Amino acid sequence: MLQQVELYSALGRAEQNELFVKLEKAYAMLPESTCASCATCCKWGSPPAFFIEYLNMYKYVRDNMKDSWQELLKKATEYYYLELVDTEQTCPFLGQDNKCSIYQVRPFSCRAYGLLSKEDFEIGDRGLKHLAKKFKEEYDITIPEEIVNYDLAWCDKVISPQGYQDKSSMAGLAAQIGTLDYSFFPQELVDQEGTLLPYPVHLCNTVLGSGARSRKIKVMKQFTDAREKELLNGFIEKATLFQF
Ligand code: SF4
Ligand code: SF4
Repeated sequence: MLQQVELYSALGRAEQNELFVKLEKAYAMLPESTCASCATCCKWGSPPAFFIEYLNMYKYVRDNMKDSWQELLKKATEYYYLELVDTEQTCPFLGQDNKCSIYQVRPFSCRAYGLLSKEDFEIGDRGLKHLAKKFKEEYDITIPEEIVNYDLAWCDKVISPQGYQDKSSMAGLAAQIGTLDYSFFPQELVDQEGTLLPYPVHLCNTVLGSGARSRKIKVMKQFTDAREKELLNGFIEKATLFQF
């Protein structure tokens, strides 16, 4: 969403206005919980994060994960280009040990998963059926059925001493985090969830610039037609030069 130079000014503004402190306070309102750590929810895709959460994760990766920068940039770039056509894509923060490498700063959507009762849990229509039709008609790209039809199931392994949370309180808390994005973007865009994007999308907007999106179709087509990654590898090479 922002180029790196703007990103640094956004990071400065967030520090100055204590937005990270406010974000931590909002996270602290969620109850303690444990789960079976099976990582099924981390293999569904990369969860959406508000821009302030992206900044928080960006800062954490910059300050604590220098040895993993290249690997993360590679995974995030692959995810950004292939999320709709490659069933192997998972959240780029999921390590080989099945653990989250940014657990302390994971976004609200990860923290909240499993805290609603089965009756209240809903993922919502991701619009993939419509998108699959459009991609086929306009670009002759087939989005695999497994991706079109996959829905993250409700998880019964999350245990909280405080029980399931009230749906409207959780929605209110998410909205409260969203308001922190008003410092960077027009309120209307934030309210329409225009700043709620998967981490790889935020990161690739920073790293690859605004042209990345327009090249997506060519990369996807090369992958679906011939399982080729030549174009993608060029973008990965560029992305992995990035310094956080
Ligand atoms: S929340 Fe559920 S699906 Fe996710 S890691 Fe924990 S047990 Fe697995
Ligand atoms: S950020 Fe961490 S907890 Fe959330 S999906 Fe990725 S690996 Fe899982």
